[in-house]
Amino acid sequence: MYTEVLNSNVLVLNKLWQITDVCSVKRALCLVYLEHAEIVLEKGGSFYTFGFEDWKDFSEGFSKEDDFISTISFKLKIPRVIILLLYDKLLPREVKFTRRNIYRRDNNTCQYCGKKLKTEQLNLDHVLPLSRGGKNTWNNVVCSCLRCNFRKANKTLSEAKTSLIRKPKKPSWKIFVKHSFSEFMKHQDWKEFIDLAYWNIELEEDKD
Ligand SMILES: [Zn+2]
Repeated sequence: MYTEVLNSNVLVLNKLWQITDVCSVKRALCLVYLEHAEIVLEKGGSFYTFGFEDWKDFSEGFSKEDDFISTISFKLKIPRVIILLLYDKLLPREVKFTRRNIYRRDNNTCQYCGKKLKTEQLNLDHVLPLSRGGKNTWNNVVCSCLRCNFRKANKTLSEAKTSLIRKPKKPSWKIFVKHSFSEFMKHQDWKEFIDLAYWNIELEEDKD
């Protein structure tokens, strides 16, 4: 339970108050303690920021137990949003080349026929088949429905007389932050920021 709380997500804003990342409660508290970030709280439409000591004092005024981390000498309310003071963003992260992330990138959509399907109705397809020298890369692996996958088999695009609905490439991790928004919505404190920042989030495109 305790570990679960420490690993739960905190929304990270950059100096421009744009959503830039999510991190664990543990990391958020570290950043605040090191004065790299402040905790943000929305109250009555205004936003307040707290340093570590201020947050400690502020936490004293609450009695609800489940939303707290308790130490021997003090308790801390779990932060839900922090704002970075020193950096515009955390270090860029690599999106791992995983099945799940390829499905996410392609939005569970067959890249040949454009049908959006359930995960179990999709498969991964090598645009240039492995047997023809194709590689396991973001640029060569796409989501495909079972039918298209079967039809294409070991052929190249031109041999199979088919084409891709879009050119596959490595996604930016920021897109994945956006994808997690539905999960964020359960935290009351985040709603304000989602509403404000959803349309402003920077979706960086990677160079091919
Ligand atoms: Zn298809």
